[in-house]
Amino acid sequence: MPRIGRFAPSPTGPLHAGSLVAALASWLDVRARGPQARWLVRIEDADTERCQPGLGERILAQLAACGLQPDEAPTWQSQRGTLYEAALAQLTSAHWAYPCGCSRKDIDEALAASGVVHARHGERVYPGTCRDGLHGKPARAWRFATTRFEQAHGLQTLHWTDRRLGPQQQQVGREVGDFVLQRADGPWAYQLAVVVDDAAQGVTDVVRGADLADNTARQILLQRALGLPTPSYLHAPLVLGADGDKLSKQNGAEPLATGTPAEALAALRAAARVLGLPEGAQGAQGAGAAASIPQALAAWVPAWRDLYNPRP
Ligand SMILES: [Zn+2]
Repeated sequence: MPRIGRFAPSPTGPLHAGSLVAALASWLDVRARGPQARWLVRIEDADTERCQPGLGERILAQLAACGLQPDEAPTWQSQRGTLYEAALAQLTSAHWAYPCGCSRKDIDEALAASGVVHARHGERVYPGTCRDGLHGKPARAWRFATTRFEQAHGLQTLHWTDRRLGPQQQQVGREVGDFVLQRADGPWAYQLAVVVDDAAQGVTDVVRGADLADNTARQILLQRALGLPTPSYLHAPLVLGADGDKLSKQNGAEPLATGTPAEALAALRAAARVLGLPEGAQGAQGAGAAASIPQALAAWVPAWRDLYNPRP
């Protein structure tokens, strides 16, 4: 079975310095595994409200300018609704998913009534109001029955190992709760779509930004509930803004300049530096600052192999 990795950007903005780090890391991890391994690109536009038309194509063009070409035609989550539908039906018939009629206000009121004050940007742990039925309310969302699943499997704390961050653990029921799989107005939640797609595409190795590390436990629970394999995980370092926060489209990350090969190479060098790779990427030719994009990429592959030991 070939090793398969992927880069899965959401087209809410063009590629920026932070997303190029994730793209380069996942590409290097695949190339370091030898010629049989394949690198896929999946445009995560399932949440169509947040995505802008044309940006998926623009991201693909930016990747191509950086020499990062997927080994298969890119996939688009917005075209894969029937797969997510089937997964939700599977979870529902196994009683691992249920409809929830709570508004955000209902949830806050139920939490306040039980004495829980959520941090302003913290995770709202769903209080379980609809776990035993909607009580006449219309469904607003479908939730994963985290607590029920954990109890049924004697799981208190989920443990897994991240290839860069080391041993990880989370008590998903206590720290996250019964999380949303689909909103009633249509959009599929990231957690469900990513788990279904990674399995459908045979992804064996997930390499992505550390901002997504916190999602891993939820995704492992969903994999187990759906009877799907769990890939290996590596969460790459983040690009930090001047304020020390993660650089993102939300805090005004500049779109990456990839219009000329020199610009694209400079962007790749900056990404390589974040990943702890030798920035100059001097190949056998000692090309140094004059290295072409293919030379730079080729020189980073063995450097990545030394850092993270990917197996063929
Ligand atoms: Zn509810």
